Amino acid sequence: MHDSKGKYKHYLLYLLLPALIIGVCGPAAEGAVSASAPLQAATSSQKKDSAATRSRVAIIIDDLGNGLRGTDEILSLPIKLTVAVMPFLSTTESDARRAHERGYDVLLHLPMEPRQGKPSWLGPGAILADMSDAEVHSRVEAALDNVPFAIGINNHMGSKVTGNERVMRIVLAVCKERGLFYLDSKTNSRSVVGKIAREMGLPPVENHIFLDDTHSVNHVIKQLRLVGEKAEDQRYCVTIGHVGIQGKKTAAGIRSGIEAMKGQVDFVGISDLVREEWHWSPRPSLTFP
Ligand SMILES: [Zn+2]
Repeated sequence: MHDSKGKYKHYLLYLLLPALIIGVCGPAAEGAVSASAPLQAATSSQKKDSAATRSRVAIIIDDLGNGLRGTDEILSLPIKLTVAVMPFLSTTESDARRAHERGYDVLLHLPMEPRQGKPSWLGPGAILADMSDAEVHSRVEAALDNVPFAIGINNHMGSKVTGNERVMRIVLAVCKERGLFYLDSKTNSRSVVGKIAREMGLPPVENHIFLDDTHSVNHVIKQLRLVGEKAEDQRYCVTIGHVGIQGKKTAAGIRSGIEAMKGQVDFVGISDLVREEWHWSPRPSLTFP
């Protein structure tokens, strides 16, 4: 979720209203995964066919963990994705597990204070700019322990905190201690994350394009076309979409868009990109529930 355009309130209403969500995402959830085509087979044959020079696209889907709309559709897409799961919520553990079993990469989607808006919209375990060093450190640790299979962190909102060098040094230090990397969602154009990551010897991974800043299937398809062009220009592209009130549209747009891009780019997990572009090997101490 990105707060640069003030839309997060809209998302957060859904995020923080589990009563609404129960009706949307029910017991059918597990069925959607078992009915999915085997991802590993598709991925390996895709790799076999792909030219060594083909550009790579990593699609990240934010805001999992609360059974939001579109979760089942995202977890059924026939390409390798990365999902960013919020901590301490109703489906945190099950979403992370389902994604991992499907062969997707899992990130901790860590709530961080935005420049505008109420911190209470962030959800549990959020990092605020005025917290002490010790509190930031212990909150990051606790959130990581709560999201199984996480190989890295990205920020939920966070336009204020990602501009705060003191706090981000602590967050990235925890990443380094645990063999994880940090993906800057780029909700703040003045983010200090890339600079600090380079100084600390972590890969400066960042989001390039938001897929669903306007909510329509056609917009997502159009954004994916831009992602393809950017990937061809710079060999790779990182893009972020969301589950939530319009999550089914995002999933449908991705499904159509990837069909049109077949043969043009390789869809990879963020861990593949980190390894191949920055020659950085994460050594995650995976948390198993
Ligand atoms: Zn988010």
